[in-house]
Parts: sequence; C-alpha cells; structure tokens
Amino acid sequence: MSIINALVREHLLALKPYSSARDEYTGKEGVFLDANENPYGSVAGKDLNRYPDPHQRQIKDKLAILKGCYPEQIFLGNGSDEAIDLIIKAVCEPKVDNILLLPPTYGMYEVCANIQQVETRKSVLTETYQPDLVDISKKVDAHTKAIWVCSPNNPTGNLIDGAIIEVLLKAYPNTLIVVDEAYIDFADVPSFIGRMGEYDNLVVLQTFSKAWGMAGLRVGMAFAHVDLIKVLNKIKYPYNLNLESQRLILEALDNVEKKDKYVEKILAERFRLFKKLMELSIVRHIYPSDSNQLLVKFHDAKAVFNYLIEKKVIVRDRTNVTLCDDCLRISIGRGRENRALMAELEEFKA
Ligand SMILES: *Cc1c(COP(=O)(O)O)cnc(C)c1O
Repeated sequence: MSIINALVREHLLALKPYSSARDEYTGKEGVFLDANENPYGSVAGKDLNRYPDPHQRQIKDKLAILKGCYPEQIFLGNGSDEAIDLIIKAVCEPKVDNILLLPPTYGMYEVCANIQQVETRKSVLTETYQPDLVDISKKVDAHTKAIWVCSPNNPTGNLIDGAIIEVLLKAYPNTLIVVDEAYIDFADVPSFIGRMGEYDNLVVLQTFSKAWGMAGLRVGMAFAHVDLIKVLNKIKYPYNLNLESQRLILEALDNVEKKDKYVEKILAERFRLFKKLMELSIVRHIYPSDSNQLLVKFHDAKAVFNYLIEKKVIVRDRTNVTLCDDCLRISIGRGRENRALMAELEEFKA
C-alpha cells in the first residue's frame, strides 16, 4: 500500500462520491435521456447542451503521452489553483495539520490553507532563493502534510535546485512534496513528472495559464500517485472542466509546437530586456530568471512603480514581500511592450 492512504484524511478514503449520469453510462452512442439536458441545443455557443466528460478521458490520454506518465496519474482542474485547494482539502485536517511554505513564493498556497483553517509554517529561502534544509527540518513535524516548492519560483523567477528537492522527497517520505512547475516550460531542466515512479510522495503541478497562453480558460494539471489522484477526483466538482475548455485543451495539445514557439519568443525577449535593464542606473540588481518574469531591485522601487502606473505601464509591486525589498516583478511582454517599459524607465528621474 502506498503512503498516500496514510496521508489522506480518513473520512475521504471512505467517502462515496457523487455518481453522475456520465459515470453510470459511458458509451458515446445512444438516445440520451438520462441527464435532464435540453435535447435541442444551446441558446448561446455551439453544442453546449450536453454535460462534459467528468473524467476528461480524451485530454488525459493525450496529455499522458506528452508528459510521459499514465492517464491515471493526472488530475485536471479549474486552474492549478483548484488542485492546490483540493490537495490541502485531501490531506489536511483543519486546526490539526499544517503545511510548510518557502517564502517568498506564490500566494495561493497560504490563502487556500487559511480558508480551510490549516496552519501554514514558513521557512524563508536563503539569500540565493534556495530552500534552507536545516531550517526546514526544525519546522516539519508529524502533522506537516505537505511542503510546497515552487520551481521556477514566483516571484523570484529562479529554479529551485533539483538536488534539494530530491533531499526533501527522501527526507520526508510521509509528507507530500508539491513541486509547482507553472513556469517549467521556460526552464532548461526536465520536469519532476519523470520522477513519480521513484517517489510516492511527489506531486507536480503544471498549468495551461503561462507558456500555453490560456490563462483565461482556467485549466491546470496535477500529476501524482494514482491513489492521490483518485481522492482528488472524488472530492472535485463532478464537471469541473467545462465542455469548451475540454475542446480547446484538446486542440492545444495538437499544437505543442505553437507553445514552443511562444516560449522561444518570450525567452529571446527576456534576454533583451535583461540587458537593457542592466544599463539603467536606477536598477540595483536583476535576479537570474528561469521563467517569464524578472525580479528587479531598484534604488526606490515604490517611486518607480508609481511612476510606471502613471504612464500606464503596470508591473507587480513586490516591495512588501519577504526578501524582495525594493523589488518589482516584471512579466516579459511582447517586443513593443518591453520597449514601451524601457522608454518610460529611461525617462524616470529619481
Ligand atoms: C500562475 C501560477 C499558477 C497558475 O495558476 P492557474 O490557476 O493554473 O492559472 C500556479 N502556480 C504558480 C506559482 C503561478 O505563478
């Protein structure tokens, strides 16, 4: 038996999930009078009158080939935000269990835990934005159900050392190690998905929101041991991915080269923007990035931020974030957008 069943909250192991019409009859042909749908059509949109596949089988079959895993190891959600929420729900007993975060990092882990009254513990990254293994060992206890590692990290942009992630996977076999790879397409390392066979406690998150350019559609992925995926599927809304999303994701999966081209363009722009920003005297430091964002330290970031807003150039103010004093996070835009940013910054008078 996998470690997963010991991690999952007991009542969820026993939970009997909702069984939809599409669960009870999975054939494609026939006269469908089982789901109280409108048989004529939909008032808007095309052919939306039928419920979508609750298990998104077609997508998972395709995705499994692309990612080199089994369809049964894939969960699809309304953004990876849904996966984050459900993972906490699956393993954390409110007011009893805790999760460990490595700030500065993505804000949703903490929000989801707070909503569910799950304690968050924090181990701040080192100066080079890597996990501090000694500090982590002091903060993990028997109730730590998950450690969240965002790699490449948001908002710092850097990859977390893969060897450190492996140490965590080995050192805490009874804790989920959730590796959030939202930006993995921009990085020059393989995904941790390939390591699932070695570690039952490994969960990898990815998304269609960044490199794939489909943030508006809201589709995210979790890859994990089949026992955990089973539980996530049990506790999700039955039809969590709508029909249109499923159609468009299938289309996207037939056009992977298009995603790769976008990544190439964004990386070329990142390189160009990095060089240009380096020439500015108002810039103190630019952190190395393995993603589509640059964390930039200014002499007076607040003043730069407010000035840019006035010029209708919107970047992310990270000045109040741990280890990000005087930092702004700049998403890599198109050539002309980055040139517009640079033109304004060159005009900035401190
Ligand atoms: C953008 C982002 C996500 C993506 O969330 P979606 O809900 O899939 O849009 C997940 N994790 C991190 C670290 C991100 O920056």
